[in-house]
Amino acid sequence: MPPACPDSAPDGNTRPGLAGSGANRYLPGMLESIQDLLIVQNRDRRLLDLEKRIDALPGEESRARGRLAADEKAVADAKAALQRNGVDIKNVELDIETRRTTIGRLKQQQFETRKNEEFSALGHEVERYEEEIDKYETRQLELMEEADTLRSTLEAAQAALEKSQSVVDEDLKSLAERRKNLEAEVEETRLLRDEAAAGIEDELSTLYDRLMKKKNGLAVAQVQNGQCGGCHVRLIPATLIKVQAGTEIAQCENCGRILYPEE
Ligand SMILES: [Zn+2]
Repeated sequence: MPPACPDSAPDGNTRPGLAGSGANRYLPGMLESIQDLLIVQNRDRRLLDLEKRIDALPGEESRARGRLAADEKAVADAKAALQRNGVDIKNVELDIETRRTTIGRLKQQQFETRKNEEFSALGHEVERYEEEIDKYETRQLELMEEADTLRSTLEAAQAALEKSQSVVDEDLKSLAERRKNLEAEVEETRLLRDEAAAGIEDELSTLYDRLMKKKNGLAVAQVQNGQCGGCHVRLIPATLIKVQAGTEIAQCENCGRILYPEE
């Protein structure tokens, strides 16, 4: 749970937390530094948030593309089935062809023979091959009907893929648009951040940068009911006095965050 203190200011353009009656107890120099620091912190937090959103984009892009996978598989499966059917039809045609050649040869032998017995034996052979051809022709018809069904399945799968593709293309387009906007905002926020940071003393600025990295994006915290607004530990009186005096940097003795007074 992020603490609800300084980042509750709308966008960093205001100087949160220091407008109240407590502010006049701060010496002008320290007051201004802390105010600037709060603006810097607001913008840094905005930058962290923007970066997080930019980092999430590749995942969203690949999820969008992933939605095509099922449709692509359906098309590939339908193509493979149609191809297998084509091979089956060719094989059946070849089987028929071979038998027709054999029948031709048998009939030629029949024509040449003078023996009745051989003639009728060859005739039986011819009948057997013709029966086989009948069976193969039936199978051929079945396969051709199957081919029609497979072609319709493929067409439907291709149409579905095309439709998904256009939805996914739209999604990818809007993700690219989002990236562009986020990157523009990062650039703008960085400029504003540096502008606000320019006037801050080195010591305070170094401390702030260190805390920002270590303290989960919250380096400056408001005192709330005698507690640190960052870690919520009760502050010792000496620290509270130091915060109120506003003459030097006051830090939470527990988490080290830079403190500023309650309003
Ligand atoms: Zn603390």
